[in-house]
Amino acid sequence: MKTTILGYPRIGARRELKFATENYWAGTIDAAELETTAARLRREVWTELRDAGLNTIPSNTFSLYDQVLDTTVMVDAIPARYRGLDGLDRYFAMARGTEEVPPLEMTKWFDTNYHYIVPELTLDTRFRLTGGSTAKPIAEYLEARKLGIETRPVLVGPLTYLLLAKAAPGSPDGFVPLDLLDSLVETYAELLERLAGAGAQWVQFDEPVLARDLGAREFDALRRAYRRLGGLASRPKLLLATYFGSVAAEALTEIAATDVESVALDLVAGPGNLETLASIGGMPRKTVIAGMVDGRNVWRSDPARVRSAYAILLGLADTVELSSSCSLLHVPVDLGTETALDPTVRERLAFARQKVAELVRLAADLRATNPQVTTLSVAAADADVRARLDALGDARRSAREIRFAAQQAKLGLPGLATTTIGSFPQTAEIRTARADLRSGRIDEPAYVQAMRAEIARVIRLQEDLGLDVLVHGEPERNDMVQYFAEQLDGYAATESGWVQSYGSRCVRPPILYGDITRPHAMTVAWATYAQSLTDKPVKGMLTGPTTMLAWSFVRDDQPLAETARQVALALRDEITDLEAAGIGIIQVDEPALRELLPLRKDDQEAYLTWAVGAFRLATSGAADATQIHTHMCYSEFGEILSPIADLDADVTSIEAARSHMELLPYLQAAGYTNGIGPGVYDIHSPRVPTSEEIAANLRNALHAVPAGRLWVNPDCGLKTRAYPETVAALTNMVTAAQTVRLSL
Ligand code: GLN
Ligand code: ZN
Repeated sequence: MKTTILGYPRIGARRELKFATENYWAGTIDAAELETTAARLRREVWTELRDAGLNTIPSNTFSLYDQVLDTTVMVDAIPARYRGLDGLDRYFAMARGTEEVPPLEMTKWFDTNYHYIVPELTLDTRFRLTGGSTAKPIAEYLEARKLGIETRPVLVGPLTYLLLAKAAPGSPDGFVPLDLLDSLVETYAELLERLAGAGAQWVQFDEPVLARDLGAREFDALRRAYRRLGGLASRPKLLLATYFGSVAAEALTEIAATDVESVALDLVAGPGNLETLASIGGMPRKTVIAGMVDGRNVWRSDPARVRSAYAILLGLADTVELSSSCSLLHVPVDLGTETALDPTVRERLAFARQKVAELVRLAADLRATNPQVTTLSVAAADADVRARLDALGDARRSAREIRFAAQQAKLGLPGLATTTIGSFPQTAEIRTARADLRSGRIDEPAYVQAMRAEIARVIRLQEDLGLDVLVHGEPERNDMVQYFAEQLDGYAATESGWVQSYGSRCVRPPILYGDITRPHAMTVAWATYAQSLTDKPVKGMLTGPTTMLAWSFVRDDQPLAETARQVALALRDEITDLEAAGIGIIQVDEPALRELLPLRKDDQEAYLTWAVGAFRLATSGAADATQIHTHMCYSEFGEILSPIADLDADVTSIEAARSHMELLPYLQAAGYTNGIGPGVYDIHSPRVPTSEEIAANLRNALHAVPAGRLWVNPDCGLKTRAYPETVAALTNMVTAAQTVRLSL
């Protein structure tokens, strides 16, 4: 029983890679020093994996920014606009842009929080292996071998690479990157030959795209690619790694018919893989790598589950090996440093380092005739929360006309009401106050004082700007999920549980480990303080249940739907408290609603049902006269317009500036007839929009939405912006709203 993993975090246990690349960008270290850190991190990972007793060790899982971008460079798919640059300058220009050239697009790696750099291909892209025998996978293979460690280079598979790429703007109609398959496969063929020449025994092709819904064309491409690569005379053995879900029977059948020696299946995200494998008669001549240790979540594995899956697999493959379900890139590096965690939570956890040890232990356990029986400890249930949720069932508010009238009577807001999404710029003073509180330099009352001063400033500014609905500005929030997680019971924060999100950016998702309860109100003091300073309505600000789940590590011992309802109940109580304290407008942000949408169509409806249900549960306790807002961003919403309508928020603000309000008619057609605030300018850019251009956006929006239901707001929160541009942009926004109102 052999063990492996499909990949490992590359950032270092103390985020060494982040600091090294950022220092390089800032010019405080040079390329040689960056490379020294990179080489040390690679060496540490390989030796750690070897010393842990893993049987086979991946390489080329390291990247200075992103493995898809590495592939783009390796196969020379460099868009023309970067051709004048080379080396690291070109690499980072493609990732981050420069003064002269914009970066390549970046988007989410499947349904994870990792982002890859999207390849941009044209009809005449011709792939070729750059660097020949010094190409990155070969160089890293040889680097490990020098240390006496035999590794298995990991490559982004040709199908995944092309299906994640986009056709460059201006490409002829009908061109899709998959048209370039043969050229890419020939480049990989050359790479395989060279890797064999360098001595590599195995190569891993990552094909997570096989967990998506694919059609005949893609299955055909799969066949062509792996028949060709499998049929090469001189090549390493091939591991075709699938992960992030179940693979269709058609795909498994195609793979079974190739000469690929080994196939990895994700048995955590794709439990259906076992049945599908059985349905095609197994892979009797191949090794099946059983992805049993969750690479996406932080829980220890259940040995009983591993044993039963193993027993089934033995009859379906020539050899069975044990692995992580996907790369461990998606979990933090080491639980060892988390000394402050509650021991009863900690004993249920495994980060990357612990998962490797766990794999080795599980394999030993499977080999033993009398395996040690380990039982996992479980989360304690909160009877009160469960009883309340049972009693609540499916919750709805009054009809929208009744609410609209009640809100109109109470709030009396004009058409084209102006507002913002919640956060105002997070200044250096705010960050210093937070750091000072953490380090004990200031005490809690002094911190509260500093935040109140900031809130007062932001309220005054908004009054001066003439906005209609004000916000308190969120100075107390480091992060919209973490802030609530820290205050809810059933959630734990880590000290250094960092996970790469993109490039040098890392996030530290909180861990939702038990039944969720709200020991005290979370936002009421800040909101009421803000409201006490103004006669205009102040909008309370909460993070919705689905977003709370999406940006946390969540328990896997109960359905997500159930966990979402528990978070929703806590938010519902918070809304009740806000209302009682005199807050008449409350926004529940759901920017991650689209993000958790399952990869496969068949799974999407069930997800949307619980996600929408949780939002309604959170908000339906509100009185008719209380106006509920929601906010969404970061995604293409085309696929979820009718679920957005089903949320039934009174007002929805949504990212729209970059797409010039294109979304609005579709949203109307999907049945959304409540208030809508399409973002009228893009906050992701420091550029200040003119009032004319904002007015043009508003007039455009008025084609689809009547003035009484149209709101005027930026695209998203302002926390990453600086004050001068924020004030200038909001001034123009208010002017634009006034101009358009007058012209009506
Ligand atoms: N209310 C949040 C803010 O303004 C929303 C953030 C988001 O959409 N991600 O910062
Ligand atoms: Zn947003």
